[in-house]
Amino acid sequence: MAILQEFRLNDEDREWMRNAACRHRPDLDFFDMYERSHMHRQCIEVCQSCPVAQECLNYAVTNEIWHGIWGGKTPNKRASTVPSNNLITLKP
Ligand code: SF4
Repeated sequence: MAILQEFRLNDEDREWMRNAACRHRPDLDFFDMYERSHMHRQCIEVCQSCPVAQECLNYAVTNEIWHGIWGGKTPNKRASTVPSNNLITLKP
């Protein structure tokens, strides 16, 4: 996934991506900027049947990726899953 080169990753294990449901939906943009858009709803529907949704969510949180839909959650929803004692840092 080329976009991952834009992030400094703490967890490089991407084996789970082989089973990602979104691999079969190149027509969808999981990094669409507009929350609550039709595109977001379509992406989240795909995530709901994804066998690696938990791994996907964990990956995004572990790597502090605050863009795009991961694990069926938007950035705002993901931020609310992080324990309150964790600081959310945006990387330059
Ligand atoms: S949960 Fe969604 S974004 Fe994550 S791998 Fe599955 S389909 Fe892709």
